[in-house]
Amino acid sequence: MKKIITFFTAALLSMSVFAEKIPSYGTTNSASQLLENGKSKYVSIFAVNDIHGTIEEDLAGKNPGGAKLSEVIKELQLANPESIFVTAGDNYQGSALSNLSQGKIMSDFFKKVGVVTSTIGNHEFDWGDQMFQQWEKDGGFNFIACNLIDKRTGKIPEWCKEYELCYVGGHLICIIGAATKDTVFTASKKRIENFEFLDPAECIRKVLRKVEATYAPEAVVVLSHIGSHENRLTGTPVSASNDVSDKFELEDVAKLKGIAAIITGHSHEYVNGTLNGKPVVQAYNYGRAISQIKLTFNEKGLKSAKGNVIEVFKNKDAITEDPEILSLIAEYKAKYGAELGEKICLVENELSHEETVPNVTPLGYTIASAMKAAYKTDFAVTNGGGLRKTVKAGTLTVNDMWELIPFDNTGVVLTLKGKDLKKIVDHGINSVGFRAGQFAGGKVYYTSRMPEGSRVTRIVLDDGRTVQDNETYTCVVNDFMAEGGDKYTVISEGIKAGSISANNTYIPFRDAVIDQLKNWGTVRKSWSEIPQVLIAE
Ligand SMILES: [Zn+2]
Repeated sequence: MKKIITFFTAALLSMSVFAEKIPSYGTTNSASQLLENGKSKYVSIFAVNDIHGTIEEDLAGKNPGGAKLSEVIKELQLANPESIFVTAGDNYQGSALSNLSQGKIMSDFFKKVGVVTSTIGNHEFDWGDQMFQQWEKDGGFNFIACNLIDKRTGKIPEWCKEYELCYVGGHLICIIGAATKDTVFTASKKRIENFEFLDPAECIRKVLRKVEATYAPEAVVVLSHIGSHENRLTGTPVSASNDVSDKFELEDVAKLKGIAAIITGHSHEYVNGTLNGKPVVQAYNYGRAISQIKLTFNEKGLKSAKGNVIEVFKNKDAITEDPEILSLIAEYKAKYGAELGEKICLVENELSHEETVPNVTPLGYTIASAMKAAYKTDFAVTNGGGLRKTVKAGTLTVNDMWELIPFDNTGVVLTLKGKDLKKIVDHGINSVGFRAGQFAGGKVYYTSRMPEGSRVTRIVLDDGRTVQDNETYTCVVNDFMAEGGDKYTVISEGIKAGSISANNTYIPFRDAVIDQLKNWGTVRKSWSEIPQVLIAE
């Protein structure tokens, strides 16, 4: 939200000698909203998380897009004048316009809606760490993550701060940033090789001590990319992590004294509950909702903190569009439009990739089939989380393909033994903490009676061959998986040990799939009634 020169000057001066360095936001237009000390009774922190470059509205889907989101933010600002707007990470990677402009369109959007700070998501590393400074410059804010260390210096990177201090409605608020340790498993290994992600709770505790001693803020809120999940029965938020060792990231942070509330992200969920008496919120993803932490003050200081999630998508058709954001989108479309509008193929029937489809989805099967054909291998496996949307029936364009496969991953052709192929497929069956593996190339028979790693009993390839444990086959995966992403360590360890040989083609797998789909011309209706490729025995 716009920085406003407040009329709280007298209050500010008495509070801190640092007052002149700390930005201040929010005015109160109603005397009834003011405490006797001249500060406001309420302060709100609004947040989006995992917006993933979603600047355009998805007319057939739930994403309101930047122009509508901007209007909602303006309305919230009117109703809650003492407020700031922040983002909980995974800001840029995910749409054609954002990826082609390397996040510039999102920076322009953040600047226009007045984002005050952002924490760092795992996908912020997708294009290398040289992007952060540019994003800060263009977006007009600093990144915050107190648990991120640059191994080369042993310190927090220069483009990152531990926390952000600001006055909102006259109150000194401290926002402490925290990345998730999960980044190690969900970012490209080579992009984060120079960084270490420390335990968030431990780092926040240290920062708290320092900040309290120096500034004595009136409220401290954690802005994190820690994954959360709400237990719908108890309403209690719990950690949602890919890594079992980080199972209690959220719980540990919630135990800290001196924290009013926790904003989370990463797991793309609706979360609005309390943990250890502290509100924990998350607002789905793609800008579909906005989370809110409402702080209530009395003369003595912070009285209470409450969470809320505004489900923007539910009435998105009724929201008007901010013309400024529309013209921003038009500007970028003019630049990249011709390239994006290019037709690839006809899709005869919807290809679902909804979470409600267990294991291999019609979309996943189609993409894996295209990979197998493009890289000319026996089999293809791709991580389900790398495919980002359901494809509706109709003409598929390059733009759709960017939204569908936003990540700039390359195809890696593995030459491996049948037993290792079985293990790779096994890892993605009924997965917990990451989307199920998508594959094509044959029918996989498995039994849940065996432990993970030995559930696949048989694979019969499309050409009729039954996979033999000690015979050699080829399988294409992407470089994220080859590096052990989504815990596909059976691949990365196998490569390290020499039992699997890997040839990174450096051909972006999005491009390879586009070429193959063009070749096919039509994705036939029968494909969406996905052939039974995963069969429980
Ligand atoms: Zn994330």
